[in-house]
Amino acid sequence: MDIETLALHAGYEKDAHGTMAVPIYQSTAYEFRDAEHAANLFALKELGNIYTRLNNPTTDVFEKRFAALEGGEAAIATSSGMAAIFYAFANLAAAGENIVCASQAYGGTLTQTAHTLKRFGIEARFFNVHDMEELRSKIDDKTRAIFFETLTNPSIDVADIDAIVAIANEHGIVSVTDNTVATPILCQPLLRGVDVSVHSASKYTTGQGLAIGGIMVERKGLTDKLKSNPRYAHFNEPDESYHGLVYTEVGLPAFTLRARLSLLRDLGAAPSPFNSWLFIQGMETLPLRMQKHSQNALAVAKFLEEHPKVKKVNYPGLPSNPNYKMAQKYFKDGMASGLLSFELGSFEEAKKVVDSVEIFSLVVNIGDSKSIITHPASTTHQQLSEEELVACGVPSGLIRLSCGLESSNDLIEDLKQALERV
Ligand SMILES: *Cc1c(COP(=O)(O)O)cnc(C)c1O
Repeated sequence: MDIETLALHAGYEKDAHGTMAVPIYQSTAYEFRDAEHAANLFALKELGNIYTRLNNPTTDVFEKRFAALEGGEAAIATSSGMAAIFYAFANLAAAGENIVCASQAYGGTLTQTAHTLKRFGIEARFFNVHDMEELRSKIDDKTRAIFFETLTNPSIDVADIDAIVAIANEHGIVSVTDNTVATPILCQPLLRGVDVSVHSASKYTTGQGLAIGGIMVERKGLTDKLKSNPRYAHFNEPDESYHGLVYTEVGLPAFTLRARLSLLRDLGAAPSPFNSWLFIQGMETLPLRMQKHSQNALAVAKFLEEHPKVKKVNYPGLPSNPNYKMAQKYFKDGMASGLLSFELGSFEEAKKVVDSVEIFSLVVNIGDSKSIITHPASTTHQQLSEEELVACGVPSGLIRLSCGLESSNDLIEDLKQALERV
């Protein structure tokens, strides 16, 4: 089935009432038929609902549908994108081990990896997403994950997915990508061999800025890569916390199984069923919206590129952009999503434009149907040093736009009048 059809139907079997819309199962827990049923569920002899921290029928539809869009085997939803990213790393690495991460990444991901994981004894080593030799040089026998964003936020680079996958596979390391900005509509990294994709569902998935959530999807066949892999002993040895379960021997997707039974159980960043329901609504129109977001962003990028006050425009849909070839290779019909950035001469000029726009809202979010403007240096990336700012491609005069679903003419007019005030 094509992705437009999956977005509307995958993962849902109508209940006894023939309910067209996926119901919201707003319940904390589920009754067992009898003691044996309860015991079977806990022992994984039967699969079913126990408690909403572990699973929920509405969330289950969200997970199955998202996995279908990504072409993955199984998915696990979390209460935020940051939780999904943390669970991906926590599922792979332990204290004393390391992960190798592209330095062009979301601000929260940079602080989580460089600072929070460090306190847990997991070292993050960074590489420039365009420099495969640097990536190679950071790998050693303690490396447990290679992480990158397919379309980076906010620097708007496009990763060479095939090259990174090849290096990860050469070393038997699990590759993890954040596919939030591209969405599975424009890019399906798991079908190119990436092992795990993570998303903030708070962005294009909800699509209207309605809820915070995250999801992690595993590639078909990842269990075979984990099996007997010396880097991932914890997937191959009995888990004492789950009466000696060996995750790669259950016959279920091992990565997601461990994330559910161990991480969701113990850390508990489970999504609310209502939010899962909102994400399901968002997914129905995701294929249509991603086309319009991409068209609007391309029109705005072309306008900005011609503007004398603009030093530089970063949008991979522009033929002049260094990422253009990658975008043509990896994204459906070369569509490059709704995110673009442009550089003005200074921090002050950027602030002036941000304060002068009328349709664009000054908000730290992306992927809303309403257009958004952000100045990363004064907001999302404020905690980073000047050095870190430059390393992750966010100079202080940089403005990021998330183009929504308005008329592109109106968006261009709005930017035109704001730039006149600089
Ligand atoms: C927003 C975002 C996140 C974090 O997601 P939350 O849902 O806000 O926790 C992670 N990665 C990218 C690329 C994002 O844009």
